[in-house]
Amino acid sequence: MHVFYLSTNVVCDENRAWFEAFRSANQCTECGMLAPECRNGPVEVVVDQRPSQAALFAAHTPIGLGRVEFLRCFGEAFDRQFSIGQVVHRRGQRLAEMASFVPRRPIVIRSPDPKCWICTTCGRFLYDRFGESDLFYVTKESLGDHLCHGTDGSSLVVTHELYERIDRHTWKSLVIRQLPVLDHPLDGIDPFPENYY
Ligand SMILES: [Zn+2]
Repeated sequence: MHVFYLSTNVVCDENRAWFEAFRSANQCTECGMLAPECRNGPVEVVVDQRPSQAALFAAHTPIGLGRVEFLRCFGEAFDRQFSIGQVVHRRGQRLAEMASFVPRRPIVIRSPDPKCWICTTCGRFLYDRFGESDLFYVTKESLGDHLCHGTDGSSLVVTHELYERIDRHTWKSLVIRQLPVLDHPLDGIDPFPENYY
């Protein structure tokens, strides 16, 4: 069994002043992890320009950015798992074709031999997957019953059922990779600590 990891190389630059203010108010100064309240309510993101035609956008904070038309193809499976917010141009105009998103509980993409430690500032369990991306995987338990998951940033993990809804012709810039789903983790971390997000 496998799922699909969707990511992007298309960058959307957030407004510099917004980015600096957001980072100092909402990210751990040591590890960069998001403040928990960002997962429970919408985050409004300010950008300098209307982004190009792409499904997902790489950004400078862990807040995901994507095109509403694309995200909508996943329906409620997406809405249930994310806090969804607005994207605004620096002059104040809302960009209705764009949305920000943060997973309420991010999924952990694992490697066989990660580096793990506890952040001495915020106390969270940090997991740095190492090595060849061909060896990355997720555990069956971490998927639960959900069809769609988020990592921090603009990457998504979706089941085959949702993957088939993607119009690959329209969303050519998506970077898509299969991720194996394993019954038991290869890194020996079981159960996974709760203080990772
Ligand atoms: Zn931290």
